[in-house]
Amino acid sequence: MDLPKLSIAALGGTVSMQASHTGEGVIPTVSGEALLSSIPELTTLADVSVETLGLLPSASLDFGFLLSVLSWADFQVKLGAVGVVIIQGTDTLEEAAAFFDYLWPYDIPFVLTGAMRSASKPGADGPANLLDACRVALAQNSRQRGAQVVMNGQIHQARNVRKTDSLALQAFSSPVVGPAGLLLEDCVRYLRPPDPRTVLPLPEQTTHRVALLEASLSADTLLLENILALGYDGLVIGGFGAGHVSQRWATMIEHIAERVPVIVATRTGSGSTARASYGFSGGEMDLIRKGVSMAGFLCPRKARILLWLVLGCRRQHELGRYLDHDTRYQN
Ligand code: ASP
Repeated sequence: MDLPKLSIAALGGTVSMQASHTGEGVIPTVSGEALLSSIPELTTLADVSVETLGLLPSASLDFGFLLSVLSWADFQVKLGAVGVVIIQGTDTLEEAAAFFDYLWPYDIPFVLTGAMRSASKPGADGPANLLDACRVALAQNSRQRGAQVVMNGQIHQARNVRKTDSLALQAFSSPVVGPAGLLLEDCVRYLRPPDPRTVLPLPEQTTHRVALLEASLSADTLLLENILALGYDGLVIGGFGAGHVSQRWATMIEHIAERVPVIVATRTGSGSTARASYGFSGGEMDLIRKGVSMAGFLCPRKARILLWLVLGCRRQHELGRYLDHDTRYQN
């Protein structure tokens, strides 16, 4: 019987890290091929091809590299893959997942995974996560779900997932909505049907810049004053509470929003921005009047990914439509 074709790419991250000598910190050294040798049962499930596209800590991934990974994945689909799995570091996993999700045009599962314990640690979670990710990528019920993150027995949608713990094994969660699914006795079980997806065209330009600033108590406005002069093409603010900034920031933001798109998200780590609750200067109603877009449930980092991609395909006039996807509870 022909096994389904599954394509796996390794980019680096803790899952691939080892120390060369005791007492030295771990660095990415383990190839995708070597990672696969730790889950021999996969060969009974799929006809697997694996490539090591990078050995990087995920802090050093960038949009250009992610676009090359996307074109690798696209080629795998053309070769007949029924699913793709990306192995990478967990530090930027939520951002990479959102990036791929906005651009993945297929129903075919696109699954990202990593590990919290490095390859040589007792109880390393990489092999279990990788096998789980492959099961999810091969499952028929994973279709039409865009990019998903599989970690520690849970399946998270790219738009919702966040790294919410720096070192714990259970480092990923999807605030408000919870995981989309689970691996139960090696079976892929979803807890809700797939959400409708918004897919963007590939960027036509990649040299534009989007800044991300976080509001903080008593912050000065020096960076805001210089954002336009520095040549930024868009700005995302991690705002207080339901998407708020100080009065002084609001004045500066109004000026910036006349020239480039500005999105305000919540810095709280969970929940949505408001639209119609607070009327004070710097509150969301004031910011909306000043031309700002509110991020809804999108966290500041993912709002930055979305704005960069929207600017890249010159669809900034449709930003509201793409953000509506994440604020639709308010309709
Ligand atoms: N601590 C990270 C990880 O879990 C390192 C990285 O993101 O590359 O993979």
